[in-house]
Amino acid sequence: MHILITGGAGFIGSHVVRRFVKSYPKYHIYNVDALTYAGNLENLSDIEDSSNYTFLKGDITDENFIQDIFKKYNFDGVIHLAAESHVDRSITDPMAFVKTNVIGTVNLLNAASDFWKNDLESKRFYHISTDEVYGALGESGLFTETRAYDPNSPYSASKASSDHFVRAYGETYKLPYVITNCSNNYGPNHFPEKLIPLFINNIIHKKALPVYGDGNYTRDWLYVIDHARAIDLVFHKGKNAETYNIGGFNEWKNIDLVKLLCSLMDAKLNRPLGDSEKLITYVKDRPGHDLRYAIDASKINKELGWEPSVTFKEGLEKTIDWYLQNEEWLESVTSGNYQEYYKKQYN
Ligand code: NAD
Repeated sequence: MHILITGGAGFIGSHVVRRFVKSYPKYHIYNVDALTYAGNLENLSDIEDSSNYTFLKGDITDENFIQDIFKKYNFDGVIHLAAESHVDRSITDPMAFVKTNVIGTVNLLNAASDFWKNDLESKRFYHISTDEVYGALGESGLFTETRAYDPNSPYSASKASSDHFVRAYGETYKLPYVITNCSNNYGPNHFPEKLIPLFINNIIHKKALPVYGDGNYTRDWLYVIDHARAIDLVFHKGKNAETYNIGGFNEWKNIDLVKLLCSLMDAKLNRPLGDSEKLITYVKDRPGHDLRYAIDASKINKELGWEPSVTFKEGLEKTIDWYLQNEEWLESVTSGNYQEYYKKQYN
């Protein structure tokens, strides 16, 4: 089997690539990534010399490049993760999200439906998406797979659009597809613009912890290795033309999460308990900020037997340990352009 994984140098993609390269020596994994600010080949340095792995630097918005690699490598399946993924950046530059998330996805769909048209049954296009496409919840309720889409940010609108295109290619061209919508991931290799790695980095350096609004925004959190396990399962066992929600059964208000992180970090860094909490600073809210996301992951649990393997505390401890052991990685990704971005965003 030749499998194309897009966005494999990013946060979730790197865990998916590693899992497939290591678990399936008979597959050949092709990782296509444009290496934007969020892509980093160091995330894959442990498997880069594997004989069943090939990295192809390229942009999914480049139609010729995508057509060429489909022709050359004869893929049997696609696991599509490449995306612009940060809500704050989508507010300042929505068009970048339209280009990669919508046009890039349609380029891949065109190549798949064109090159696979005589042998569709043996193929699979797996699109990775987010729970943010469902919009916001009030104090109660959960997102199920049948909930109407109601995206509120340019990021979630671009992901919703790409999900619709995938389904439309399934209906119109009979492309065999599967989609998963997952909640917030955390874990090793996460770029420190997102809440958990940003705060770990700031606590290490005793910098302010910028909490949006009143801190009552609520998210469900899933350890990234558990997401990669779910992706493996859905790719191999999920039903065509189905959507599966993936979540951690693990809802946290931002402020409670930040306080838990502070106490875990105080213990790890041998600082007095309560030291890091003093760094919490409330900042101006993000426009269009969704109050609460919460996932009903019972379908994937019942049909495919998936459930998270670690508790939130265990996952956070593993994550903190990884960042403390990989300070060089953290230094390298937070130098240069990151500094400029950070100043614009929080100063
Ligand atoms: P990320 O930003 O860490 O990684 C994205 C990767 O895509 C990077 O390696 C980047 O270089 C690459 N990329 C970006 N534009 C590209 C282009 N035009 N061509 C080729 N490569 C390009 O993102 P992530 O957090 O790992 O998310 C991966 C996928 O999972 C995304 O589709 C995202 O919407 C989805 N998702 C993420 C989360 C989360 O909590 N991080 C939750 C649910 C779903």
